[in-house]
Amino acid sequence: MKSQPTSNPIRVGTGVDELRQAFLDNLTCALGRLRTFSSTHDYYLALALTVRDHVVFRAVGNVEEGMAKGIRRVAYLSAEFLPGPHLANHLLNLGITEAAREALGGLGIDLDVVLAAEVEPGLGNGGLGRLASCYLDSLATVGVQSIGYGIRYEFGIFQQSIRDGWQVESADKWLQGGNPWEIHRPGVAREVKFGGHTETWVDDCGRSRVRWVPAFVIRGEAYDTPISGYESDICTLMRLWKAEAGESFDFEAFNHGDYYRAVEQKVDSENLSKVLYPNDELHRGKELRLKQQFFFTSCALQDMLRVHQMSGGTPDNFHEGWAVQLNDTHPAVAVAELMRLLVDEQAIGWTRAWEITCKTFSYTNHTLLPEALEKWPVAIFGGLLPRHLEMIYEINSRFLDEVRRTFPGDGDKVARLSLIDESGPRYVRMAHLACAGSHTINGVAALHSDLLQQTVLADFAALWPEKFTNVTNGVTPRRFVALANPGLAGLLARHAGKDWPGNLDELLALEACVKDAGFRHEWREVKLANKRRLAAVIASRTGIEVSPDSLFDVQVKRIHEYKRQHLNLLHILSLYLAIKRDPKAPVVPRTFIFGGKAAPGYFMAKRIIRLVTAITALVNEDRDVAGRITVVFFPNFNVGNAHYVYPAAELSEQISLAGTEASGTGNMKMSLNGALTIGTLDGANVEIREAVGEENFFLFGLTTPEVAARKSGGYRPRDLYEADPVLREVINFLANGGLGGDPELFRPLVYNLLDSDPYLALADFRSYLEAQRRVGELWSDPDAWTTCSVLNVARMGRFSSDRAVREYCQRIWKVNAKPVNA
Ligand SMILES: *Cc1c(COP(=O)(O)O)cnc(C)c1O
Repeated sequence: MKSQPTSNPIRVGTGVDELRQAFLDNLTCALGRLRTFSSTHDYYLALALTVRDHVVFRAVGNVEEGMAKGIRRVAYLSAEFLPGPHLANHLLNLGITEAAREALGGLGIDLDVVLAAEVEPGLGNGGLGRLASCYLDSLATVGVQSIGYGIRYEFGIFQQSIRDGWQVESADKWLQGGNPWEIHRPGVAREVKFGGHTETWVDDCGRSRVRWVPAFVIRGEAYDTPISGYESDICTLMRLWKAEAGESFDFEAFNHGDYYRAVEQKVDSENLSKVLYPNDELHRGKELRLKQQFFFTSCALQDMLRVHQMSGGTPDNFHEGWAVQLNDTHPAVAVAELMRLLVDEQAIGWTRAWEITCKTFSYTNHTLLPEALEKWPVAIFGGLLPRHLEMIYEINSRFLDEVRRTFPGDGDKVARLSLIDESGPRYVRMAHLACAGSHTINGVAALHSDLLQQTVLADFAALWPEKFTNVTNGVTPRRFVALANPGLAGLLARHAGKDWPGNLDELLALEACVKDAGFRHEWREVKLANKRRLAAVIASRTGIEVSPDSLFDVQVKRIHEYKRQHLNLLHILSLYLAIKRDPKAPVVPRTFIFGGKAAPGYFMAKRIIRLVTAITALVNEDRDVAGRITVVFFPNFNVGNAHYVYPAAELSEQISLAGTEASGTGNMKMSLNGALTIGTLDGANVEIREAVGEENFFLFGLTTPEVAARKSGGYRPRDLYEADPVLREVINFLANGGLGGDPELFRPLVYNLLDSDPYLALADFRSYLEAQRRVGELWSDPDAWTTCSVLNVARMGRFSSDRAVREYCQRIWKVNAKPVNA
């Protein structure tokens, strides 16, 4: 008999009076505050605890249900999650936003002020972590029993501020004010071994077995954050692991009376989950990073085994209980760890264990950039994970036997496919391990999945074509439209029906409205209000006044050469110089908004930020261009700030070099909020353009095959500079101190462009300028612009993360999602 969880009706009641009473109870009993002395932050905590009760109550119910039915669950393993502020999202999902507003309003408290007090968990760098959070949201929404496993970093992605034009990083102390969303479960703890050596022994049945004798053990403690779904009965968990000293950390040292060494070891252990590495798309090969990866992966797999056994499963049918998705190669060591758990600890034979492993995992590749592909020096890997290195050698030897059978006599192929890179110093190739141990491998946009099979994973695709597939990324329309853009959300509900947040294809109904002048007027009013809201935030954060009547041209994303923020800057300088030369130059009033963090050690990216701020100073203070072009760097771009930026964007800059951006999701968020895209045929831009119609998209730039041809033909950026007077003028201006200050400042950028230009910014410059000219032209015709904007939103339905998650469920995880209109 299944036991239904029960609770106090006040605690989980959704009426205004119950919410108010629960809120006051929490303020007094949980926080120990008297109303008169309460701060906004106290109110935030009290409301968060109130809402947490609702979601946790549901989560507890789900766990029991899942256990009873013995259904297959999904585990999403990701080293990063970027959930954004939780409170408003839960209120929306539970349908109690207005009730909460009234409940607090009756006490003279403004809900919006309370919502603004939340500090977001920045446990990711950018797109990859945000994708993981969109998928958890959608898994809960489409009713799939699931869990996200990751690391509870004490310090998330650094806080960015701008001082004297430079990025300055500071620690993200997100836990300082308390985190009301997590439930610490000291009882749910896993021991994770590191270092040491292995031994063979013979068990009672006479079998030869291997035992791992570690040098030290770290304890992982679970912290659970509930994840609600939109209008869903299901509530799932994001389970993050914090590193603590293992049970016996101090045993030896204490016994030797070495108190300080014992404490040092404890501190060392806890350092493991201290900080998120701030590199996006760059593998740095730091040992602590490998420790983090193995730590959360091992905790997760041990946890899954325990849950599986508690629901009546056995290690032998683990794959029937769990589908495990590897979000990039960060958790790829899971393949070896599951083998170790099955073979060494559960005494399952190798062949069967390998079968179970391959039926459990699937792997998502996120990048083609060679510098992002993870590989670990064999010495570091074996030092930390000696048993896993042995297992990887064994996996490799069996795997390469298969390769030799399939491609007899092709030694090069064997070397290319090997899990070990032996071309120089030896490395473990994590993507190869992930491919070998997964039943399905996917890219994140159609173009990316194709290129993957032609380039970095071409040999795997030739060996196992049936393993490869594509699942184009998606984003949650709840957070990025309903929450971030309430004005648009209201308009959509009135014209496309109220079901659009759970069924984004409903937005197609907007196509019928596009000819209605009244509707287009309303549409523009919504955008204008969003631009005013962003302008106010920009003024308060930067002191820069921007005109809401100008075209808001937005590029917000991590700063990276492949994303080509510098191409955008070259365009701005060309406009500036055009206006300086001829005040009557036909330039529509524009506000260029940049945002994004640069990895602290990424020299060029930091120079690019410095260039944005230098151009800001130049342009914003020049009377000749006043009111015509304004440039802003919006500091500390994160999910909370994204809520202001995306809804105000009119032009979405998606200008990466073709073949470098795996998918992009910022492109989807902006188009869904009515921005038109200026973009290359890269990542999901290709599919966005197909969906919205090529007449509603500003295309420019080389295609992937053209890029390859240019590169193999000996690309000489300096020739382009010599041949193009506009480009020459812009580059000379940059190189010769036109921006004032130290003329040396931007020389590294200039020489990089002239001498190597690895992302072909100069090759795409002309075509970009031409596309920008078309942008200006269309913007001068508000009705035509609005029509394109409406059609963008109407046709973006397939970029909901619900669609993406349903594809994973059907084609990869083989679990049932609830039908679309249920
Ligand atoms: C969506 C998002 C990203 C990813 O943006 P891209 O333009 O796809 O690179 C990065 N950071 C935040 C905060 C986001 O919300």
